Amino acid sequence: MEFPGFLGNESVKEGLRAAFAAGRFPHAVIFQGERGCGKKTLAGLAAQALVCRDKPRAPCGQCPSCLRALAGSHPDIRRLRGGGASGSLSVEAVRDMLGDAYRMPEEADYNIYIVDFGPRTLPAAQNTLLKLIEEPPEGAVFLMLCPSAEAVLPTIRSRSQIFTLRPPPMEDAARWLKEHRPEAADRAEELAALCGGNIGRMLEELEGGRAGQAFAIAVEMAGAMLSPGGHRLLAAAAPLQKDRALFREALERLSLIFRDACAMRTGGRELLSGAGPAVERLCALPMRRLVRLPDLAEECREKLDRNANPALLLTWFCARLASHT
Ligand SMILES: [Zn+2]
Repeated sequence: MEFPGFLGNESVKEGLRAAFAAGRFPHAVIFQGERGCGKKTLAGLAAQALVCRDKPRAPCGQCPSCLRALAGSHPDIRRLRGGGASGSLSVEAVRDMLGDAYRMPEEADYNIYIVDFGPRTLPAAQNTLLKLIEEPPEGAVFLMLCPSAEAVLPTIRSRSQIFTLRPPPMEDAARWLKEHRPEAADRAEELAALCGGNIGRMLEELEGGRAGQAFAIAVEMAGAMLSPGGHRLLAAAAPLQKDRALFREALERLSLIFRDACAMRTGGRELLSGAGPAVERLCALPMRRLVRLPDLAEECREKLDRNANPALLLTWFCARLASHT
């Protein structure tokens, strides 16, 4: 099993390759990692390799199965993804899949389901899926995608092999962008730094995404947390109350900055946020306050996904961020 064009993540690729070569590809796999880090791409490559007719070179990219997988029309590869305002997977969508999972594969040896849980992994949808994971139909392979396996039911997690995806090194991501989007070559390094090497975010940013603005706001908020009172923090966060998508994006960036600060305080050096100076300044906070911040950002994101009023939520969040207790 090869992963042409998929950067970094060597240990993940090695794990998948070994299982495939030994004919022991797990029936339930969780790919966890932040948005844009390549979960869908990797799941697509793994699915393609599983259906490929040229096993030693899978995915060969040339056989009829590979071509159909690449075109998104292979009958044995199903994609399930969330929808609606929250982007999360619904119970109904999983039920539809349940009805389909006991059929024999049409062409390949496997029925492959790429299940994208979306930003939040709703317990009801997972419970419906659990039945299939517990007693998998012959040949079924579930490739589940989520930001964090922590949000997956323990009963599913314990039956799955979990792989953590990370963005590739920034230099590699910049080189990738130059090759694939030559028109953006002069911005490649800047975008790679802005997005921490996350290629999905780099592409979004190129298409007029909010990554740059969200990153700037997150860095500003992290700095403002150290100021007395809460006025600077509220001012920095103000643009978020009218733009739910920007709010969510800024929370994701803040969450990474907070996690980096916790890691740096305990001697870690591998930063994921791309916001070194802001992370360093946050390290001045007392440890007991620092360790609560990642959960606080996560709690805020969950409330936002549950359609909380953004203006009220932002006030609550800033008050909690500024609070010393
Ligand atoms: Zn092939």
